Amino acid sequence: MKDVPHALWEPVIGLEIHAQLNTKSKLFSPAPNHFGDEPNSNISYVCTGQPGTLPILNKEAVRKAVQFGLAIQAKVALTSSFDRKSYFYPDSPRNFQITQYEHPLIRGGMITADIEGQSKLFHVNRAHLEDDAGMLKHFTNFAGIDYNRAGAPLIEIVSEPCIHSAKEASAYAMAIRSLLLYLDASDGNMEEGSLRIDVNVSVRRKGETTLRPRVEIKNMNSFSFLEMAITSEVSRQIALYLSHPHTSHAELIPPGTYRWDTESKQIILMRTKESADDYRYFPEPDLPPLILTESYLDVLRDALPELPHNRFRRYTSDLGLTPYAASVLINEKSTCDYFEQANAICMNPRSLCNWMTVEFAGRLKETGKTLLDHGILPQHVAKLIQMIDRGQVTGPIAKAIADEMTASPGVDPEMIFSKNPDYQPIGDLASLQPIIDQILEDNPQSVADFKAGKEKAFAFLIGQVMKATRGKASPAVVNELLRKKLFHIQ
Ligand code: ADP
Ligand code: MG
Repeated sequence: MKDVPHALWEPVIGLEIHAQLNTKSKLFSPAPNHFGDEPNSNISYVCTGQPGTLPILNKEAVRKAVQFGLAIQAKVALTSSFDRKSYFYPDSPRNFQITQYEHPLIRGGMITADIEGQSKLFHVNRAHLEDDAGMLKHFTNFAGIDYNRAGAPLIEIVSEPCIHSAKEASAYAMAIRSLLLYLDASDGNMEEGSLRIDVNVSVRRKGETTLRPRVEIKNMNSFSFLEMAITSEVSRQIALYLSHPHTSHAELIPPGTYRWDTESKQIILMRTKESADDYRYFPEPDLPPLILTESYLDVLRDALPELPHNRFRRYTSDLGLTPYAASVLINEKSTCDYFEQANAICMNPRSLCNWMTVEFAGRLKETGKTLLDHGILPQHVAKLIQMIDRGQVTGPIAKAIADEMTASPGVDPEMIFSKNPDYQPIGDLASLQPIIDQILEDNPQSVADFKAGKEKAFAFLIGQVMKATRGKASPAVVNELLRKKLFHIQ
């Protein structure tokens, strides 16, 4: 579809993100809220919809949702309420979901995300609490139902249709996920389904101010699938409008709920879109309104941790990291905490960031693990950087030590260094003198350039010495020795 003039069209995207709150128990029952256990072991009378049972709202879920609202500077409603959303499917034992429809807990709010080095502000329309459904498992000739997830607390975060590219959509979703992790509100584990994204996609000609009809693609569980689905859907819709200029928009893009098929890389219709009427929303009679006080909000506001966008600002302005490097660190809270811990020791944020996100990340790529999961301690990475900064090891030796730290995680780099005679820098003048003399003799032009004031020539000569010693010469000693020698050459 290369000939489609995308430049004249604007994608319009809105995301509905469902994140499971990492509370101890479920939203309306004391059953454990825990993934991965034996099917139907974390269930109670309430979450299996036994007649006569009553829901009781989980305070911890409310607290986590409110903190999210405060963190995005939204309006947190002092009075909100729950509604029943009816639907018939075996994953919902009660045949209705308890959600917040008319009066959600959170309205408005915004989130900043970094798209290829540029910050962009996105607007949230609303966020509310609701309970999750169970899970159907299909076997060869029957299906089973696992209700462990039924009743798990969800926060649904609905964006404005303010997202205009696939990259923006994934950056926005990553920023939401990262914020939830910073707040310790969700584990954000997309593989386990703790964070699922429904994406609404439409397109319009640039300059149009009204929205065209959209399709909804449900349950995306990876950022790359999200981007792929959006890119493919945008192209499909533009092509449809171009090839049917006289057909009404509504006819071309009928409302529907789709899923992304990862095999065929296309969307597949699940059902034609329900309207709110189909769900027969009505106020949940078994739950009183949720009433909060200003002082409760104040206490939670004061307790907010340093949030990702504040950290981002601090990293780019105070620590001198590039926006890209800062966002790589910040997206994953555990990586960022690791960085904080190590930097408190070595106080060299740029070098540390490079060692973490380039050097060690490269070495760990195949394992799919983070430094922490792999067992390399932040204090050891910090120590390696201190060893470099002190001139105790050169770059190539530091890299060799990093290889060994990766191969045997938990071993102190100082130990690795002192045990290996090959790692000891050549710092004694007796061995360095002749090497330096030889290099000066071989490079008369560079010597002349240096004499003429070209500092670059000096760097070149240092490089030659390093090469000749296979990186083992102590840079501090070589530097001094070389300057002395050059000074004496007429
Ligand atoms: P529904 O009730 O069908 O879920 P909402 O009004 O709650 O619809 O919107 C759901 C999501 O779809 C929101 O994120 C919203 O921004 C987005 N959205 C709504 N209309 C459009 C559109 N025409 N194009 C793209 N996204 C849209
Ligand atoms: Mg919706």
